[in-house]
Amino acid sequence: MSQTLSGIEEVSGWLASARSAVVLTGAGISTESGIPDFRSPGGVWSKYRTVFFDEFQASESARYEYWRQKCELHRQFGDAQPNAGHRVLAKWEADGRLRGVITQNIDGLHQMAGSRRVLELHGTARQALCLDCQARFDIEPFVAQFLAEDRVPTCPQCAGRIKHATVSFGQILPADVLEEAARWSEEADLMLAIGSSLVVTPAADLPRLAKQSGARLVIVNRDETPLDGVADAVLRDPIGQVITEIDSFATAK
Ligand code: ZN
Repeated sequence: MSQTLSGIEEVSGWLASARSAVVLTGAGISTESGIPDFRSPGGVWSKYRTVFFDEFQASESARYEYWRQKCELHRQFGDAQPNAGHRVLAKWEADGRLRGVITQNIDGLHQMAGSRRVLELHGTARQALCLDCQARFDIEPFVAQFLAEDRVPTCPQCAGRIKHATVSFGQILPADVLEEAARWSEEADLMLAIGSSLVVTPAADLPRLAKQSGARLVIVNRDETPLDGVADAVLRDPIGQVITEIDSFATAK
C-alpha cells in the first residue's frame, strides 16, 4: 500500500469515529470545477485594479469598475458545477458524519452540491446585497442588466448601492459567521482543511484553533501550507480523488 493510501485509511478511521468533524475549504476544491484560483499567477487579481470597499461606497466610477470586473469574472464561474469533492462533503453532512463546511470560497458550489450547513467567510457571489437597505437578491439579473446596459445597477427596493454579497478588499468579515466558525473549530474533534493555502487570516487561524482545542488536523492541499508541521496527516493528491478515497474507506467501516 502506498504511503498516501495508508494515510487515507487512517484519516477515514478518524472521520468514522469523530463526533464533531468540520471541514474548511479554500479555492483548491473548486479548481476541479474549472474555477481558477484567483491568487495564482495570471488570476484576476494580477489582471485588474483592486476596487476597495471604501472606494465602492464613495464613487460611481469605482462602482462601474467593480461591476465591469465582476461581470467578466462571473462568466468564469456562472456555469460551474460542483465536483466529486463537493458532492462527498454534502453526503457526509447528510449521513451525520460532518457538522458542516466553513469555506473561503464565494462560488456557492457547496450548496449546489447539497451541503446545508455552510459558513461562507467571504460571503457569496450568487447573491447581490444592497449596502443601503441590506436587501438580498439573486445576482443573475444584475449581471445580465450590466452586460446589456453597461450601467451600474441599483437596488430595486431603495435605489441604493448594490454589490455582490461578498467581502471586498478593505471590508471586514461578517462577525456572526466568523464567531460561528470559531465555535465549530473549538468544538471539533476532527478538522479537514481542504484546498486552502492557509495563509489568509482569519480562515488560516481556524485549523490552528481546532488543533489547540484538541482536534486532529488533516490537511489536503496540493502545495505546502504553514500548518503542515502541526497537522496529524497531510495529503497532496488531487482533492476530489482524496476525498472520494476517504469516503470509500469510511463507508466500509
Ligand atoms: Zn436597497
